[in-house]
Amino acid sequence: MTESIIIAELNKGKIASVTAELVSAAIKLGTTPTLVVPCTDTSIADSAGYEGVSKTIAVKGACFANYDASSWAAAIDAASPAGILVVAATPQSKDLVARIAARRGISVVQDVVSIEGMNLTSPIYSGKALQTVSLSGDSAISVRANVFPAASAGAANVSVVDQTADVMTAVQEVIARASTRLDVSEANIIISGGRGLGSPDNFTHLEKIADVLGAAVGASRAAVDTWDEIPHSMQVGQTGKTVNPNLYIAVGISGAIQHLAGMRSSKYIVAINKDADAPIFSHADYGIVATWEETLPVLESALASMM
Ligand SMILES: Cc1cc2nc3c(=O)[nH]c(=O)nc-3n(C[C@H](O)[C@H](O)[C@H](O)COP(=O)(O)OP(=O)(O)OC[C@H]3O[C@@H](n4cnc5c(N)ncnc54)[C@H](O)[C@@H]3O)c2cc1C
Repeated sequence: MTESIIIAELNKGKIASVTAELVSAAIKLGTTPTLVVPCTDTSIADSAGYEGVSKTIAVKGACFANYDASSWAAAIDAASPAGILVVAATPQSKDLVARIAARRGISVVQDVVSIEGMNLTSPIYSGKALQTVSLSGDSAISVRANVFPAASAGAANVSVVDQTADVMTAVQEVIARASTRLDVSEANIIISGGRGLGSPDNFTHLEKIADVLGAAVGASRAAVDTWDEIPHSMQVGQTGKTVNPNLYIAVGISGAIQHLAGMRSSKYIVAINKDADAPIFSHADYGIVATWEETLPVLESALASMM
């Protein structure tokens, strides 16, 4: 049986929940998965046990304190066995797996949304079409979140590989705007705002609803580009994050092709837009033709009465 190497997805130094979904994806490929956990402190690998994973390699290195594509790729490549590399389709991991694939001279399939044996399906042309690719031999794939069920927890059989001495560079500090909110790439429910919100202050209305629903707050590129207060980490779309939630609520977003590229595979799409001809309505399961000023207070009080 071919071996697969899952590179754990990390979020603020912890194993992100999407890692359990990668285990199911690797098993669906018919492979035997080994889990690789990049870390500065190997104790995080102890919590990375999943049914179906027989081996966990904690790759220790100072470089893993902050993301740096070349040092991470060098350290993980050196410590990981050959096989099919499996990562989450997040911007960082897509970058990382492409780097490792280039080092190994193997091909890459990004944004996989379905696996049937060695046949993989992934969107192309900003999601306008789906392609099916057959894997033969070692390769690298990134898998979208919320597609595969999470594997159950199991015992972790951890071995440690210390790469500290072999990696020459490490990013010491990243200065980023702190956010305590849920990241859009992991969320099951997302409420996103566009330029139609009129001001960054109006995102507080989305945050209130997000807090009730346990949702993440996203944004269109126009909102991110127009307002400094809305960080790029919230951007959904072709040049932002690709999301795959059960529910995506688009508020004051026109539905440009580049925005759709990042969210059109959401299970249910709800659009709130004052323009009945906005393209977002062609992709929405439910559409509300009204201003957000009219709609969000009603939604807020309806949710409050359900709590
Ligand atoms: C190479 C490239 C990459 C890009 N990548 C991305 C990307 O990753 N993500 C992305 O989002 N875009 C991306 N874009 C930009 C994209 O083309 C659009 O310009 C952008 O998505 C528009 O954002 P918007 O819908 O918020 O703004 P607008 O197009 O200005 O639409 C605002 C909408 O709000 C509605 N509205 C106005 N007032 C209200 C109100 N009071 N209540 C309700 N509705 C209201 C309007 O009817 C309108 O439909 C990219 C473009 C290029 C060229």
